[in-house]
Amino acid sequence: PVVTRFAPSPTGYLHIGGARTALFNWAFARHTGGKMLLRIEDTDRERSTEGAVKAIFEGLKWLGLDWDGEPFMQFSRAARHAEIANELLSRGQAYYCYCSPEELAEMRETARANGLPPRYNGYWRDRDPSEAPAGVAPVIRIKAPQSGEIRVEDHVQGEVVFKAENLDDFIILRSDGTPTYMLAVVVDDHDMGVTHIIRGDDHLTNAARQIVIYNGMGWSVPEMSHIPLIHGPDGAKLSKRHGALGVEAYRQLGYLPEALRNYLARLGWSHGDEELFSTAQMVEWFTLEALNKGAARFDFVKLENINGHYIRQATPERLYEVMLETATELNRVFDMDGLAANHDTVLAALPELQPRAKTVLELIDLAQFIYAVRPLAIDASAADQLTPDARANVGAFADILKGLNDWSVEAIDAAARAFAEARGLKLGKVAQPLRAALTGRTVSPGIFEVMVLIGRDETLARLGDQAS
Ligand code: GLU
Repeated sequence: PVVTRFAPSPTGYLHIGGARTALFNWAFARHTGGKMLLRIEDTDRERSTEGAVKAIFEGLKWLGLDWDGEPFMQFSRAARHAEIANELLSRGQAYYCYCSPEELAEMRETARANGLPPRYNGYWRDRDPSEAPAGVAPVIRIKAPQSGEIRVEDHVQGEVVFKAENLDDFIILRSDGTPTYMLAVVVDDHDMGVTHIIRGDDHLTNAARQIVIYNGMGWSVPEMSHIPLIHGPDGAKLSKRHGALGVEAYRQLGYLPEALRNYLARLGWSHGDEELFSTAQMVEWFTLEALNKGAARFDFVKLENINGHYIRQATPERLYEVMLETATELNRVFDMDGLAANHDTVLAALPELQPRAKTVLELIDLAQFIYAVRPLAIDASAADQLTPDARANVGAFADILKGLNDWSVEAIDAAARAFAEARGLKLGKVAQPLRAALTGRTVSPGIFEVMVLIGRDETLARLGDQAS
C-alpha cells in the first residue's frame, strides 16, 4: 500500500508552496487508499519554533488535509539516526573524518583554484583511524561513489543523471553525534515505510545524495516525484507580493479552504482542461503522471474567481459562520458585534450578496448596510448624490413609505415608480439618493431588497437622517 508523507520544517508559517506539497501527498494517498504521514522536521533547533509547528497543524486542518497516525517529530529520533550512521560505518559504507575546519577550508580553496565545486577530497576515506590526531571528535561521512553516475528516476522530471564526481563524501553524523538533514530524512522515510516521496524540485540534488545512503544500507529507494516550485506571475521566484504567504493569511483574506484546494490542485497538476472540481473529484482523478513538469505560476485573479465560485456554492449558514470568525479575528477592521447581532438579517441577505463577492471579506463588507449604525457614515460619492433636491425627494418618498401597508420588494418598487413618474424623474434619480441614505454608498444590492432586509423602522429612520 502507498505511504506518502508531508515533511515540513517548522521555521515559519505553513506557506502556500508547502500547502500544495501537502495537498498532492494527501490526494495521492487518498486516491490509492494509502496513508499520508506527517513528519515535522525540527532538527534545526535554532530555527524551529513551537508556534510554527502549531501553524502547520492548524493550516493543514483548515485546509481539510488530514494525516494518518501521530505526527513524527524528527528531532526525537536522533538516537535512531546515529544508530544508522554507525551501522553504515560497520558496513564499510561510511568512515570517520578528523579534518579540522582549517583543513576543510584549504580543500575548498584548492578545489576552487582548480575550477571545481568546493568539495571534500576524501582524505580520511581510506586512512586508518589510528592515524587520527588526539582529542579531535570526528564526523561520520558516507562513502559516495567516486565515478559513474547516480540516477534519480522521477515521475515528474524523468530520469535525472548526476555525475558521481559532483557528489562528495558528505557528512551524515556531526562531531557532536547529531544527524545531518540528509541522513535524518532517509532514515525516517525508511522507518516510516514511505513508498512515495512528493516534494519540491529544490530537493532534487538531495535526492541523489539520499540515494547514496539508501544504497549504503541496501534499502529500496521510494518512488520520487519532484514538483516544480510555484513562481510569481512574472516567472520569478514567488514573492510575498505575489502570494508567498502563509495559509492563515489566505484564510484571513477571506478564501474558503475548498477554493484554495481547487486552486492549488491546478498549480502543477491537471486533469484535462477542468478548472473547477470538487476535492472528491480531485482525489478520484489524482495520478502522479498528471503532475506537470513546467513551473506553475501563481495567479491571484484566478484564485479570486475560483473563490467566488465556491462562495456562490456555499450555504448562507456556513458563510455566516465564516464571516463571523473572520470578523472576530479582524475586529479592528470589521464590526463583529454588528454581524453577530443581526444573524437573521445577514442570513436572509446572503443569497443577494453571494453573487457579488469573491472573498469572505467582500461579503462582510457588502453586508455592512445591515449592521451599520445610525447615523450612517456616508462615503464621498454617496454624499455627492445627496443634493438638496435629492434630500427633499428622500423626505417626500419616506412619507409615502410610511403609509405603505405592504412592506415587500414589489410594493415598494411600485411606489417608487409612481413617485418618480409623478415628479417627472427617472427611477434612478430616486433610487440613487435612497441608496446613499440607506447604505452610505453608491453600490449595494437592489435598494428595495435592502429596505425589506433592514425593515420598515430602520428604513424610515435612516431616510429621516438624510431627508430635508
Ligand atoms: N523539510 C523539507 C522542507 O521543508 C522537506 C524535506 C523532504 O520533503 O524531504 O523543505
